[in-house]
Parts: sequence; structure tokens; C-alpha cells
Amino acid sequence: MFDIFRNWRARRTVTRRPIAEALWREALQRCTAARRLGASDQAALRVLATLFLERKSLEPVEGLPLGDVDRVLLAAHACVPILRLGLDWYDGWHSVIVYPGAFIPRREHMDDAGVLHQGDSVLSGEAWERGPVILSWTDVLEDRKAPGHNVVIHEMAHKLDMQNGEANGFPPLHRRMDRRVWSQVFSGAWDRLRKEQREGAELPIDPYGLESPAEFFSVVSEQFFEAPASLREHLPDVYRQLELFYRQHPL
Ligand SMILES: [Zn+2]
Repeated sequence: MFDIFRNWRARRTVTRRPIAEALWREALQRCTAARRLGASDQAALRVLATLFLERKSLEPVEGLPLGDVDRVLLAAHACVPILRLGLDWYDGWHSVIVYPGAFIPRREHMDDAGVLHQGDSVLSGEAWERGPVILSWTDVLEDRKAPGHNVVIHEMAHKLDMQNGEANGFPPLHRRMDRRVWSQVFSGAWDRLRKEQREGAELPIDPYGLESPAEFFSVVSEQFFEAPASLREHLPDVYRQLELFYRQHPL
């Protein structure tokens, strides 16, 4: 019953208020990963982006002017990873908070000695489990100049990873996927890259991916959509697993 209602509501949204053609064209031009798609996939992405804007609340803060094209661009980036998965994969959270630039998280944490710390690292993006996605708008725009980077896709990959609990680089896999193969491929690549890093070699991925298995999954997901040829060349097994997970073939 719920699904019927939801599908009906989804159809109604798209038919009554689709993203306007001119806005969509302009956003597409600024979204590398979406530009790579064929016409029918771009049309599907437009539907998803429309629904994304309907269901999620984009909340600019600190006086950031977030115009219509900006909102559509953000939605287009956000929906690239779920093009073949569906918007249900983003269930369980509601807000995208957008800062003008890099931000310092306000949360506090208690250390082992019982001292309360304010967050002190400067971030370009953050995803809270069952909570908001937080983005720096400057970083969303700057990513266009950095091949392989996309902070929106990065945070959305964390959200997919969190669909089965804490982000750990192990999102819920599809029925025909093999959990053992996923583990072997990702931990094998991780071990090899760590070794290369220790030896001072130049890494084929953003070294930030080696901070944790969760970051690894998000960083290779960015690269899968933004610089697929390089990922396939250097980490073909990881690339294959991401093809199976995202059900997309960017090359
Ligand atoms: Zn991350």
C-alpha cells in the first residue's frame, strides 16, 4: 500500500514539477559524471534529481546564496550514484546542509580522560549516520578542477555505506554479489596501497582513502564516477566490484 502511494506521489511530482529544461541543461554542463551518461540515463537522472529536491531539504547556512541551478547541480551530483539503485537508498535522512566554505564540525566528544573536545578539523563534507549530509559549497565547485574528485558523491557513498549500519566500506550488497569477493578485493587493494604508501610511491587514488575502509570506499566511488579510466587501470578488481554495486559502467 505504502509503495503504491509512494509511486503515485513520485509520478505526480515529476509530471507536475519536473526540473525546468534550461536549469537542467545548465546543471548538466557543470556535472562531469552526468555528462558522460547517454540521453536516456540523463533523462532518468533528471527524474531522480527532481524527486531528490522534493524529498530532501537543501539548507544553505551562513548566508550562502544557493540558487536554483546550484540546487539542481547538487541534486544531479547526488543522484549519479543511485541512478540504477533508486532513491530508496537515500532513505532515513532528510537534510543537506551547505556551508559557503570548509567548516569546523560543532560536535563535541569526550576523550578517554573524560575531557570534552570541540571538533577541530576543517572539513569539506561530512555525512552523519541517520543525520544530515554537510557540504562546503566552495569544495563542491572546486572539484570541477580536480579530476577524480567529487565531494557530493563522496558523502553520498558514505550514506549508501551506512544503509547497513556504521560506515565501514561494506554497503549492503545485491543478491548476486559475493561478500567474500568484495572483502578480498577491497582488503587486497587496501594492503597493496598501504605498502606503496609506506614506500613513498605515488598512489593512484587520493591518499585520504587510506584513512579507513569507509574513506576508501567513498574515495574509490568518487573516482569510479569522475575518473573511471584511471581507476580501472590501477585497481581493476575494485572497479569491477563497483560496477556490480552501482550497476553502472562509466566506461
Ligand atoms: Zn569521507
